[in-house]
Amino acid sequence: MPPSPTLPDFDLVIFGGTGDLAKRKLLPALLQRFLAGQVGPGSRVIGAARDTLGAANYRQKVAESVAGPASDVPGDRLAEFLEIVDYVAVDVASDSGWADLKARLDARPDRVRIFYLAIGPGLFAPACERLHQYGLDGPLSRVVVEKPIGHDLASARQTNATLAAVFSEAQTFRIDHYLGKETVQNLIALRFGNALFEPLWNAARIDHVQITVAEELGLAGRAGYYDTAGALRDMVQNHMLQLLCFVAMEPPYSMDADVVRDEKLKVLRALRPIRGDDVRHYTVRGQYRRGVASSGAVPGYTDELGAEQSRTETFVAIRAEVANWRWAGVPFYLRTGKRLPQRVSEIVVSFQPVRHSLFGAAAGPLTPNKLIIRLQPDEGVRLGLMIKEPGPGGLRLRRTSLDMSFANAFAGQRQPDAYERLLMDVVRGNPTLFMRRDEVEAAWAWIDPILSAWAQDSEPPRPYTAGTWGPSAAIALVERDGRTWHEELEDLP
Ligand code: NAP
Repeated sequence: MPPSPTLPDFDLVIFGGTGDLAKRKLLPALLQRFLAGQVGPGSRVIGAARDTLGAANYRQKVAESVAGPASDVPGDRLAEFLEIVDYVAVDVASDSGWADLKARLDARPDRVRIFYLAIGPGLFAPACERLHQYGLDGPLSRVVVEKPIGHDLASARQTNATLAAVFSEAQTFRIDHYLGKETVQNLIALRFGNALFEPLWNAARIDHVQITVAEELGLAGRAGYYDTAGALRDMVQNHMLQLLCFVAMEPPYSMDADVVRDEKLKVLRALRPIRGDDVRHYTVRGQYRRGVASSGAVPGYTDELGAEQSRTETFVAIRAEVANWRWAGVPFYLRTGKRLPQRVSEIVVSFQPVRHSLFGAAAGPLTPNKLIIRLQPDEGVRLGLMIKEPGPGGLRLRRTSLDMSFANAFAGQRQPDAYERLLMDVVRGNPTLFMRRDEVEAAWAWIDPILSAWAQDSEPPRPYTAGTWGPSAAIALVERDGRTWHEELEDLP
């Protein structure tokens, strides 16, 4: 990989600098970019939270939290990184600590300032208000927020209005870490950097698309948040609809951020609404019961939650349609859930069967081609093809795949984490891989009627056994169209 040029020095304040997101994702990503030379020694990373632990203790904590992913980092390089790390005790909900933060930032007024709001969404408003009150919202300032951006359209609009009251859209970066994954960017390269696929990328040649985001884990310590969200809000509204946009969008006329985001927005607006009685027909929601995972026996959702009952869905399957000229009639099946048999995120594009088979029954069945774009684990792209079974005798057909596992293709090269890419894009001021306000709201506008139909439905989510692929109704959702969910091990060698 060519070395990354060092970016101009910047200041990054992480509100919530002692939290889980900062420890697991942001600080390790910044360390990696520092080691790669992209973040220079003049930049500053300032943790900010209410805890009065002080800069030295904070550096110690940072060292501990980055030690796992970066255990092969030489001690002197880690020490150099820690020199750019600082800490200020700040309460975003009061005036405590703000004067101190302002003094440090104002010592370097001419550089890009990034405020990463790694705090609960209820604190976005007071944080933005104080950034404005203390004059920290100048033209070089940028704000970064994570999901959840609202829990429905009305609250998302409110959150966006809160941000917009202080920062312009160009200064606002809404992170969806799925978009920082190599494979998502590769989807763009694959579609628009090759002459092969684009002529086939339409309803005449593609039979259907499947997007699966499966988790093997259950609540994993996120019970409080998850029970108020559920799979539709947690996964579909953001990550999965964003993936769908990259599959379905028209070729943008340039890679300019707003040109790409305009095309994604059109896809979101073209999604056929699912509302009223259609919700039962085109969506399935489920909740896991106790079962068996690879780690052994696991409890059901309500047991894990410690509650008598809950109507929160831990699984959702949807038959979506993009109602436009290119995609009319092509189903986009979305499926996500917890406690499924394996952790896998992938997009499967299934092409139409060949129009006429030359081969007799003895040759075996002809399986339609599939393009499989895998986001995790083992990022890569595979193309399922039919070939002749090697050897003498009659012509028998066999399924095989053209396989490009990124780990193998680029052996020896580090696969950067999505946050590394996205954080550096914020520093550069490139919002292409971030969600624009109208995209977030268009996604909620599609999700809201599903949520309200579920809320009025007297039936609870359908149970499924932990360690299975969800309720049987999710299988029926696809099978009643004469199709099946893609199964990696069975479908391709
Ligand atoms: P967390 O572990 O609970 O950390 C919260 C952080 O906010 C702590 O550093 C806390 O420190 C700080 N904080 C709380 N109240 C504050 C206040 N009034 N002023 C200043 N700092 C305050 O939360 P998290 O998991 O890191 O999540 C942070 C945000 O990212 C949330 O919005 C979450 O939904 C989102 N998110 C997280 C993840 C993830 O992987 N963790 C993934 C996606 C989205 P003090 O208590 O010392 O102030």
